[in-house]
Amino acid sequence: MSPHASQARIFSARRIITMNGDEPEAVATLGERVVAVGGRRELRDRFPGAEDVDLGSGVLLPGFNDAHAHPSVLADGGLYVDLAPSVTGSAEQVRRALAERAARTPEGEWVVGHNFDVSRTEDGRSVDRTLLDQVSARHPVLIIHYSYHGAVANSRALAAAGYDEGTPDPVGGELVRDGGRLTGVLYERAWMEGYLGHGSRPPLVPQPTMPARVESLRRMLARMNAAGITSVCDAMVHPADWALYQAARDAGALTARVGMLLWYEFFEPARELGMRTGFGDGMLRFSGVKMMTDGAVSGGTCLCRAPYRGALGERTGGIQVMPDEEIAEVVHRVHAAGSRLAVHANGDLAISKVLDAMEAAIGATPPRPGQTHRIEHCSVVDPELVKRIRALDVIPVPFGAFISYHGHNLVGHYGRERAARISPHRTFLDAGITVAGSSDYPCGPLEPLYALRSLTTRRAQDGTVLGEGQRLTPYEALEVYTAGSAAASGEQDDKGRIAVGRIADFTVLGEDPLRTEPEGLAEIPVLSTWVGARRVWHAG
Ligand SMILES: [Zn+2]
Repeated sequence: MSPHASQARIFSARRIITMNGDEPEAVATLGERVVAVGGRRELRDRFPGAEDVDLGSGVLLPGFNDAHAHPSVLADGGLYVDLAPSVTGSAEQVRRALAERAARTPEGEWVVGHNFDVSRTEDGRSVDRTLLDQVSARHPVLIIHYSYHGAVANSRALAAAGYDEGTPDPVGGELVRDGGRLTGVLYERAWMEGYLGHGSRPPLVPQPTMPARVESLRRMLARMNAAGITSVCDAMVHPADWALYQAARDAGALTARVGMLLWYEFFEPARELGMRTGFGDGMLRFSGVKMMTDGAVSGGTCLCRAPYRGALGERTGGIQVMPDEEIAEVVHRVHAAGSRLAVHANGDLAISKVLDAMEAAIGATPPRPGQTHRIEHCSVVDPELVKRIRALDVIPVPFGAFISYHGHNLVGHYGRERAARISPHRTFLDAGITVAGSSDYPCGPLEPLYALRSLTTRRAQDGTVLGEGQRLTPYEALEVYTAGSAAASGEQDDKGRIAVGRIADFTVLGEDPLRTEPEGLAEIPVLSTWVGARRVWHAG
C-alpha cells in the first residue's frame, strides 16, 4: 500500500460504466473502497481535500476478473524451456530448443519444456519419444503440454518414472502405445503422478527456487495488470504454490487479487485445520477445491456421450480422469465441510457425472448460505444439463476465448455442429445462470478484451462463425468478466460492480467497449489498472 492509501480520491473519466445501472460523472474512494458516486462538483464539495484523478478521455469500468487461469504454473523462474507456439512453431524447432538446453545441462539432469501445443506445430512431424531421444540420450527430457493434460517423455524420462512396456495404464491416465511400444506420450494421471509427485512422493522434475518463482510471478501478474486484470483465480494450487503466493505477498509482488483453487488431494489437511473456502482476505483467499473429472476440450480428450475424432487420431469418447466413486466421494466430502467445489468437467458425460455427485451431496447436507459450487469449463451441455445446473445454482466457468483461439481445432475434433455448441454462454445466461469469465491461460490468450471479442462475435481465427446464437452483447460479456467472475469466488457483494462500499478495482480503457463494434474490442487499449484505488499499471 502506498503511504497515501487512506487519502480520498475522486475519479472522473469520459464515461464511467458501473455495471450497476447508473452512470455517474465521478467516483470517490477512501482507502481501497468506493465511498460515493455522483456528480463531480457534488463529490468535490463532499470531499474537499480529495486528490483529483482525472482520467481524461479514458473509460472507467470495474476491473477485469479472470476466474480461471494458471499464473503459478508459469512462475517457473525461467527453469523450463518455453515451447509456446509463438516461440517454437515446428517439431524441428522444439527439438532444437531442447537440444540447445541439453548441451548446457550436466549429464543426467532434467531438461523440461512447457507451454507445448502439438496442434500448432507446422511440419506435421510427431513430437514423441523418438524425437526426444534425438534431443538427448544422456538427459531425461520431458515436455509438458500447455493444458497440463499431457506430456511427452524420452526413454530416460520414462525409465526415471519407472515406466516400461509392461506398465499398465494408471486409473485416470494413459501411457500411449504403438504396437505395444511406449510412444512417450502420457495423458492425465500417467504424467502428473509420474512426474509432479503424488502423495508423499516428491516431484521428479526440478522445481525452481522460491525467490526465482516470486520474480516470475511478479512479471506474470504485471502482464495481467497490463491486460486490465485486477483479480485472478489460480485454478490449480499445490502447497508449493500456496507458499509462493504468501511469499509474493510479503515481497509486494501481488499486484492483482488472487483466489486459490486448492488441488483436492490437499483438502484433507486444510479441513482438519478447520479451514474452509472463504478463508483469507481481499488480496489472497482460499476460493475453492479443484478436482478434475475429464480431459481437455482443445486437446481432444474430454469425456463425451457421442464419440469424436480425438487427440489420438481415432474415434473416442474421451478420458475419464476420476472414477465415478471417487468423484462422488470427494464432492460429498468437500460439500459437507462447507467448502466450494470447482470441478473441471468439459464433456457432457463428465458434466452429468459431476451433477449426479453434487445433487447427492446437496441432498444429504443443505448448503451453507452462499455455498455455491462451480463447474470449470462446462464446455458441452444439453438442455437437461442446463436445467440441472440452474436448479443447483452451480456457476459454470467456461472458456472466454476458445471459440476464437481454438475454433479450427474444435471443429476438427468435434465436428462443426458440436463445436458451435461449445462454451454456450448465451444458453447459460438465458437460463438465468450466473456465468464467470476465464482465460485458462496459458491454454488460451490471457487478455479479457480478446475474450470479449470472442464472446460477442463467436468468430474463429479462420473467419468462420461458430454458434452465432451463442453471441453475447458487449454489456453481457463485460458482466461475465466482472460481476460473473466475482460471484464464482463468492465475492459478488465486494467486487465486479462500481458502487458505494465496494472495492475500488478499476480498469481504464482508451475506447468505450459498449460503443465499439464487437470486431474491434480486442484492439481497445488498456490505459491503466487500479487495485484498491491504487494504480498498479499504466500505459507508456
Ligand atoms: Zn485450467
